[in-house]
Amino acid sequence: MSSELMTQTAAAVAETAPSHPLLKPGGNLREETVTHVHHWTDTLFTFKTTRDPSFRFINGQFAMIGLFVDNKPLLRAYSMVSANYEEFLEFLSIKVQDGPLTSRLQHIKVGDRIIVGRKATGTLLQDNLTPAKTLYLLSTGTGLAPFMSVIKDPDAYERFEKIVLVHGVRTVGELAYQDLITKELPENEFFGDEVKKKLVYYPTVTREDFRNRGRVTDLITSGKLFSDLGLPPLNIENDRIMLCGSPAMLADMRTMLDGLGWQEGSTTGAGQYVIEKAFVEQ
Ligand SMILES: Cc1cc2nc3c(=O)[nH]c(=O)nc-3n(C[C@H](O)[C@H](O)[C@H](O)COP(=O)(O)OP(=O)(O)OC[C@H]3O[C@@H](n4cnc5c(N)ncnc54)[C@H](O)[C@@H]3O)c2cc1C
Repeated sequence: MSSELMTQTAAAVAETAPSHPLLKPGGNLREETVTHVHHWTDTLFTFKTTRDPSFRFINGQFAMIGLFVDNKPLLRAYSMVSANYEEFLEFLSIKVQDGPLTSRLQHIKVGDRIIVGRKATGTLLQDNLTPAKTLYLLSTGTGLAPFMSVIKDPDAYERFEKIVLVHGVRTVGELAYQDLITKELPENEFFGDEVKKKLVYYPTVTREDFRNRGRVTDLITSGKLFSDLGLPPLNIENDRIMLCGSPAMLADMRTMLDGLGWQEGSTTGAGQYVIEKAFVEQ
């Protein structure tokens, strides 16, 4: 073997060799390499990694990801922003200054490795909803993440006549992925025309001036969201809802929807709405 080939082979082995005994082939965890990092604000960032082709998921699901800390895996639930057909993985992350994972994760750089669990799960699945005309994706903060993979899913545009993505944040800088939603997706070579016809994006901000102001729950209960968009009020026949946000927003929305007689869907039975926590309050 030539010395050049030997060097290349050694480099390839070094790149793929697991850096920890827990990462054995066929195990529950694998390592991916960070390929891109973008900081939206001092509390929010996005990163992309390589993707093992054997890692399968349904758009809307989450997986456990993390870092080795003191030689042990420190894992947290993260929704995939990337769609299941993309060759990379992408995540949107909060930075909690004293958070066990994100106090560290926020410093990752291109070339670093992160752990990704092999199993994806979650309730924000189109199959968990009965058929209807309009799909509302209601999110606050990092709750946007699972809906990014849903709005990149060509199936969603086949199932629904309209998809309304609502993203509530405190400051304008936290409105992640605006360009991707409003500029790149409508130009997608495969389903851009469907996006142009069917996707409606409604960002809203609570603590700064912006064209849409107020909390997602208030915009729904007051009817302002629907009048702003020229859409009829929520209707159990025509509308389905996916919710991902703060525990408070989810509790309010659940109370409201249950009061209107809506049924929560799950893998055991489809319903009119599905819920996933964007994080757990401790
Ligand atoms: C189903 C599910 C999906 C999730 N998907 C994502 C995701 O896509 N992106 C993401 O950043 N986080 C997500 N989370 C939260 C994530 O699992 C971690 O809690 C987060 O990464 C912080 O980890 P930590 O160890 O630094 O702090 P933790 O000890 O986990 O959290 C400390 C505190 O920080 C606050 N907090 C944690 N996460 C958030 C958040 N996302 N937004 C606002 N406040 C938060 C809460 O008050 C929490 O009690 C998800 C959680 C669940 C249950």
